[in-house]
Amino acid sequence: MPRGAAADRRREVSLTPPAPIGRIAILGGGTAGWMAAAMLARVLEKRAPSITLVESEQIGTVGVGEATIPPIRSFNSLLGIDEDDFVRQTKATFKLGIEFRNWGAPGHRYIHPFGKYGITIDRVAFHHHWLRARAAGDVTPLHEFSLSACAAYQNRFIRPVADPRLILSSLSYAFHFDAGLYAAYLRRYACARGVERVEGRVLDVELRGEDGFIRALRIEGDRRVEADLFIDCSGFAGLLIEKALHTGYDDWTHWLPCDRAVAVPSESVTPLTPYTRSTAHAAGWQWRIPLQHRIGNGHVYCSQFISDDQAAATLMANLDGKALAEPRFLGFTTGRRRKFWSRNCVALGLSAGFLEPLESTSIHLIQSGLTQLAACFPDSSFDPIDSAEYNRLQLEEFDRVRDFIILHYKMNTRDDAPLWRQCRDMEIPATLDYRMKLFASSGRVQCEDRELFAESNWLSVMLGQGIVPRRHDPLADHIAIEETRRRLAELKMLIHGTVEAMPGHAEFIAAIVAQRTS
Ligand SMILES: Cc1cc2nc3c(=O)[nH]c(=O)nc-3n(C[C@H](O)[C@H](O)[C@H](O)COP(=O)(O)OP(=O)(O)OC[C@H]3O[C@@H](n4cnc5c(N)ncnc54)[C@H](O)[C@@H]3O)c2cc1C
Repeated sequence: MPRGAAADRRREVSLTPPAPIGRIAILGGGTAGWMAAAMLARVLEKRAPSITLVESEQIGTVGVGEATIPPIRSFNSLLGIDEDDFVRQTKATFKLGIEFRNWGAPGHRYIHPFGKYGITIDRVAFHHHWLRARAAGDVTPLHEFSLSACAAYQNRFIRPVADPRLILSSLSYAFHFDAGLYAAYLRRYACARGVERVEGRVLDVELRGEDGFIRALRIEGDRRVEADLFIDCSGFAGLLIEKALHTGYDDWTHWLPCDRAVAVPSESVTPLTPYTRSTAHAAGWQWRIPLQHRIGNGHVYCSQFISDDQAAATLMANLDGKALAEPRFLGFTTGRRRKFWSRNCVALGLSAGFLEPLESTSIHLIQSGLTQLAACFPDSSFDPIDSAEYNRLQLEEFDRVRDFIILHYKMNTRDDAPLWRQCRDMEIPATLDYRMKLFASSGRVQCEDRELFAESNWLSVMLGQGIVPRRHDPLADHIAIEETRRRLAELKMLIHGTVEAMPGHAEFIAAIVAQRTS
């Protein structure tokens, strides 16, 4: 072959793109597994890889995880899900925020609402005007300027509008849903789009000798599932990412010492509250998640300070309605894998790591992992830059959520139990320390563009947990204080008037449920 022709041939070879991923195997059929199956079936429908999900009914799922945050709506809309149908089928309710009780001194409460506070006045963030009015003697709490918070406390709900000139655009919401019904809903969605479900226990994992990539899952009954890409959704077991690939785990119990939870459903009570509640107890905290047909409750606690029996007794003594089952215990270690994507395996859900559900972030982290995986989706060459970028972004996301959760513990003002004193005295990550100090000094909230929690989220919790800034933005002083007061009073009236005109939360859901039967 002439030399020029050889060069052309080489160029031709290098221009031939590597083959696309043809086979994907997902291990696990909990929330993570079915979210992955649904999303990949949807996003990759044009490339049409085969997607197989392996799960074992005998092992079962963790069966908790029922409170979400607003980005779940983007996930639903990406899947093209009709929201009313989703609400009916998962027995969902709407969620406008999280109320924190007893995280300060016993009796203290605050709300972390979704959506924005107030309005920007003269290009200065609303909370600086509020801080200024506060310094001048106005005692109106910040949540009175959040439409979501005011609607939540009045047990009312309506969907927001898009027009930014209207106060109704400042409301934001998520859902509470039944975890079992949610997984079943996504399973129907995924299977209708060609995902194959294999029932059976994975007994062994075959690795390729040459590069340590996963070749196949060996399943009881002498079956085998081969694939190019594996998604580990096997829950706390971390069967692929850890047991097969030995990726390593960063343990965060020195920051987040709670290591057990006990969960129990209880009968519904009225009113149907459109928010999650988190109540701090002596050795942990209790969640309350209202659904259409029951309330989900659980006590997350630190086994160093309380026994299982005492934890269950505390939970049972603090239910609003009659318990509907026996309490169920779960153990965990807060932390995360050192990598979420290793070789040809991506871990999602509990196999990737665990952060306690104080801010309902786990389901979001699954969604965020899937969105990022779609953006970095590999071909058969598995270019290491794709996994490096995925790991960089997802580790960063996990670490920021960790900081947000630690903030609640660090800034508690309880003096009645060793857990709270220990948390107040602990050293915290430098990234969180910086944010807290900046806010305490100037009321500024450090937030990067890509962060899950925005200014209003950090603000709610930093103020709620008792950090009061020493100063506000001096630009807020450019308006006469009387004018600031007048605008705040007007805004408060507008919010209260808007809430009064909203339907009740229970009424809003009843109308959605009735659509099916009418
Ligand atoms: C106490 C608690 C409260 C929580 N509350 C919230 C909340 O309010 N909001 C939120 O966003 N998140 C919450 N979470 C997290 C949430 O529950 C999980 O992120 C979510 O359920 C995903 O779980 P998973 O699918 O990763 O694991 P799992 O539900 O455990 O599913 C694992 C799957 O892997 C399968 N499997 C395992 N081993 C094998 C094997 N050898 N062979 C075959 N199949 C196997 C199992 O059968 C199962 O199908 C909470 C978690 C806990 C522990």
